Amino acid sequence: MALEEIRPGVSFRPDAAASWRRVEAEIGRELQTSRTSVDYDEQADLYALRQAGQYPYSVAHPDVSNHVYRSDTDGGNAVDTDEWADPAVVAVLEDHGWWRPYLPPNPIVEQWHNDYDPARDNHRNDTPALKEDDMILIESEETRKPW
Ligand SMILES: [Zn+2]
Repeated sequence: MALEEIRPGVSFRPDAAASWRRVEAEIGRELQTSRTSVDYDEQADLYALRQAGQYPYSVAHPDVSNHVYRSDTDGGNAVDTDEWADPAVVAVLEDHGWWRPYLPPNPIVEQWHNDYDPARDNHRNDTPALKEDDMILIESEETRKPW
């Protein structure tokens, strides 16, 4: 499989994308995102900037950054979001498997960075919510029954 684009600039590996959709459905709006998945070269460029002292924040090497998709179970599961300032949103994110590894006592502090961990997701086995298009399909199948 591959990255799933939720909208331009917001893409995750499939399990993280499914969780993100459930989070936004529960909160009832699109969440702010500064950065989700990036390709290897973009992360490598940022990493090089950081190594050169020209970028203020910690940057993971593209071989290990969760902002880089490597497979459906490795990478492609990170988001940087300003929503961390709202405890109610953070509570929903945590309930859905998003956690923040870079908080004290970690010496690297990035309150905005969340990683998706399926083992922490209380909703990963939920039945997907029906979308409006699915409802129309179900109705039309019903009316096509021969009896
Ligand atoms: Zn990040």
